[in-house]
Amino acid sequence: MPKYSSYTEFITAYKKEEISCEALVQYYLSKIEESKEYNIYIEVYAKEALARAKALDDEAKRGEIKGELFGAILSIKDNICYKGKGVTASSKILEGFNSTYTATAIQKLIDEGAIIIGRTNCDEFGMGSDNSHSVYGPVKNPIDPEYVPGGSSGGCAASVLADTCLASIGTDTGGSIRQPAAFCNLVGAKPSYGQISRYGIIAYASSFDQVGAISHEVSTVSKLIEVMSGPDTMDPTTVQHASIDRKSPSDRKVKIAYLDSTLSSEGIDPIIRDDFSKLLDTFKKDGHTVEAVSFEYTDLLVPTYYVLTTAEASSNLSRYDGVRYGHQSNDAASLEELYTQSRSEGFGIEVKRRIMLGTFVLSASYYDAYYTKAQKVRRMIKDRMLEIFQDYDYVVLPTSPVFPWKIGSHDQDPTASYLADIFTVLTNLFGGPSVSIPLFDESKRFRSSFQILSSPHLDYDLFAFAERVQNKILH
Ligand code: GLN
Repeated sequence: MPKYSSYTEFITAYKKEEISCEALVQYYLSKIEESKEYNIYIEVYAKEALARAKALDDEAKRGEIKGELFGAILSIKDNICYKGKGVTASSKILEGFNSTYTATAIQKLIDEGAIIIGRTNCDEFGMGSDNSHSVYGPVKNPIDPEYVPGGSSGGCAASVLADTCLASIGTDTGGSIRQPAAFCNLVGAKPSYGQISRYGIIAYASSFDQVGAISHEVSTVSKLIEVMSGPDTMDPTTVQHASIDRKSPSDRKVKIAYLDSTLSSEGIDPIIRDDFSKLLDTFKKDGHTVEAVSFEYTDLLVPTYYVLTTAEASSNLSRYDGVRYGHQSNDAASLEELYTQSRSEGFGIEVKRRIMLGTFVLSASYYDAYYTKAQKVRRMIKDRMLEIFQDYDYVVLPTSPVFPWKIGSHDQDPTASYLADIFTVLTNLFGGPSVSIPLFDESKRFRSSFQILSSPHLDYDLFAFAERVQNKILH
């Protein structure tokens, strides 16, 4: 059991003077020490976190418990800038690089009283599904260290599960928050595209990337997302009028769709399929309408996602040339060699694979065959999803088709990992929000998880419903 499983639980205890921020930072630091074997943290900000905790405790003594997140102790993924601190996206190419400014999302959390305790390991540049592609080595799943914690925000999920922080802030391009949350039996959510500023987030695929959060409870995750949300002049893709429409009063009966292909899709673990069917029954018993809808693009989700994200990545990562940031090769005889050597030495195998693929799909002779076609398919997927949301409030689907695998077992077969992204990439393709929640039996070692999706920019309505599902329907 975690010391505090939600922000509300913590702040209630704090107000009753059962705990101080300083004591809680001490507790989490001791947990970080205890959980070293999982390789979660790249850097721990012990001194600053303790000093900030003490300052907050002093404010509280003066009767000033201010801010939406007063005393919330958080870890952040190593691809989010925090001024004066190192940030590497778990890549050798950024070794020694320090942030010169703080990401808008993190600044907003700090402004509301949060304490950042450290930065966590992840897949290099967010590319991966099991946190094995990191220059710092793999993260181990605290449920069983022989297994992966999911990725790319595997360190974020493991940091929460190992009880080293209340919640963690990560990024989700195609599932990197929801899938590790699922692999660690936790809640993870990504908001709609444009809800949270990407200023200060190291880019992987800019038209997909979003910041999100992992914790034990929907209520905490949604609070963090709410604080981080809003327009930002530093990111023109942020939406100007994020809807905070909560049209979900506590017992409204809703219309839920699931995609007909979900239950028949190959490669889904039979236990996950059965749990998902049980979930549909549970919704029905609770009085909601649950119907299958046709969705003819299931087989195109993973290819479309990988064509477009690798194209964007190859462009985004071209800035790492050994001159402007981080690692620079020592044995280059010419400028051209300096670029190639620095990049060859600095990037890991998965990143190189994606740069190659992205460059290929963007090349003059193949652009139309792959990139343009994938953009068209993305539009068709989006149109179909918006059509479904005309008739239904939410769409539910499993988070991952499979349970966590053993560390190293996908090393020779990257497509096995890509295919496991089938259910998470959908929401990033059309830009909607999604919450992943673990299902039923808490005694199980690895639990099935499922996602609830809504139409873009109905995030708060979705979170309110998801909170109700977690607290009432699944308990
Ligand atoms: N597993 C997916 C990928 O490798 C998703 C990663 C992410 O969301 N950053 O691209």
